[in-house]
Amino acid sequence: MKFSDMKYERVNVEEVKNKVVALSQTLKNATSFEEAKSAFLEMEKFQKHVFTMGELVHIRHSIDTRDEFYDEENKFWNKVIPEMEQYVQMFKNELLNSKYRKELSDEYGEVFFINMEIQKKTFSPEIIPELQEENRLVNEYDKLLASAEVKFEDKTYTLSQMSPFKNDFDDERRLKAWIAEGEWYMENADKLDSLYDNLVKVRSGIAKKLGYDNFIELGYYRMTRNCYDQADVDKFRQNVVKYIVPMADELYKEQAKRLSKEYPMNFADNALEFRTGNPKPQGTAYDIIAHGRKFYDELSPETSKFYRTMLNMELMDVLSKEGKQGGGYCTPIFEEEVPFIFANFNGTQHDVEVVTHEAGHAFAVWMNKGKIPMETTWPTYEACEVHSMSMEFFAWPWAEGFFGKDTKKFKYSHLASAIKFIPYGTMVDHFQHLVYENPDLTPEDRHEEWKRLMNIYMPWVKIDGDIPFYDDARAWQRQSHIYDMPFYYIDYCLAQTVALQFWAMMKRDMNGAWDKYMSYTKLGGSLTFIDLLKSAGLQIPFEEECLKGVSQEANKFLSDIDTSEF
Ligand code: ZN
Repeated sequence: MKFSDMKYERVNVEEVKNKVVALSQTLKNATSFEEAKSAFLEMEKFQKHVFTMGELVHIRHSIDTRDEFYDEENKFWNKVIPEMEQYVQMFKNELLNSKYRKELSDEYGEVFFINMEIQKKTFSPEIIPELQEENRLVNEYDKLLASAEVKFEDKTYTLSQMSPFKNDFDDERRLKAWIAEGEWYMENADKLDSLYDNLVKVRSGIAKKLGYDNFIELGYYRMTRNCYDQADVDKFRQNVVKYIVPMADELYKEQAKRLSKEYPMNFADNALEFRTGNPKPQGTAYDIIAHGRKFYDELSPETSKFYRTMLNMELMDVLSKEGKQGGGYCTPIFEEEVPFIFANFNGTQHDVEVVTHEAGHAFAVWMNKGKIPMETTWPTYEACEVHSMSMEFFAWPWAEGFFGKDTKKFKYSHLASAIKFIPYGTMVDHFQHLVYENPDLTPEDRHEEWKRLMNIYMPWVKIDGDIPFYDDARAWQRQSHIYDMPFYYIDYCLAQTVALQFWAMMKRDMNGAWDKYMSYTKLGGSLTFIDLLKSAGLQIPFEEECLKGVSQEANKFLSDIDTSEF
């Protein structure tokens, strides 16, 4: 079956409610483990169907936000998901309180139950109106960004289409692209400010209603943080400042030298890594997808079968089109037991990352298809980003087919970017802690906080006033996670440190590294992030030795490369 043949039908909310109430009763009144188990399995099957319908709408709506049918359906789902949530919660409560909880958790794993306990802390029927409002605001933000028309060189472009120009090797053209993009954001500055302000207020209100001091603790629960807390993240932050920031700073200093520019450089110059231009994939979008097939065919039998299914069933929508939402994601379509990849190709190395990063997520779904409970298909987000960010590095031996003559440049750039990213990502997370700790900050105050953090985490940026929006310390407004998924950003940083461990391992023993990756991936979401790492013999990112170790290994590799030949 192809994606376009997958049939969508709106679910009847009353029916859903009645069915879940009935199943909850059966579970509650169960007089044997078998009875409890069969209610649980029936709920699984039913939930799979409902999720699949919601997912089809989400995917088709994001592919074309102008499609009226799916726009309507999307509004419908945004409204009913929070309503249905309370019924799902009712069922989960019965699971948690079941006389057979012990037997159920022996069969389906304790993490599933721990996560349910955590999720329980994020919901109460009295917050439904606020959740609906939050959803509406998030959608408004997504729609605003998707509708962006940036005027540049007598043409208009979407935000993701601007990316190649923002990386152009011509200094003047590149700077103009940054300015043009910044101007679009500035035209919408009030709207972006007020959308976020409202989101912070709504979220803080929800936290108060649920009995929390502020949104942070609730935000952690929403991310299902089941094995670390704010103190661990704080430790990680300190180690980033200690080990990664100085190394990234050195990389930017060398970059300035390479470009014959003065350190520190502005945003536009920091974006150009080499005088001869940033590494570019060779060939068309189709060539990249085709070389992905060679990569996965040769990597392992499992990846081969996976990627060929993605192609045959048309489960990747990757070309940039008008009306399409920005960004990228990968999501499971449970009933069909396949993943779907959504992306926006833009002619830069990002396109290769879709075939490596997003497909890394998809592969993890594929490896865990049919897993019961369906919630354990995937672990928590930071653990998922390990699947994808490590897959990017597993593609290194095949990099030549993606990058041709730019291969060496690409490897340097990929590894250097991994290092440069960690301070930025940590700053995005730190920023959100400040925002939700002080929900009464004005939009202006928030920009000030961002500016202050830039001095700590990104000391290599020169603010010269040439680039509106960026120089006004508003750049966080283009980071959609800050609006859409609070506290989902440190996940990338934690995962990156694990991916770097895989990268270091690969250099010594490719097969051994792949075996470790497979053993980590096959476990799906049956363990917590930390237990997954331990079971695969990997270091925990919160330990000082971990960041110290990966930064030293990466530093050695990068300094051995003679970048003067680029
Ligand atoms: Zn990802």
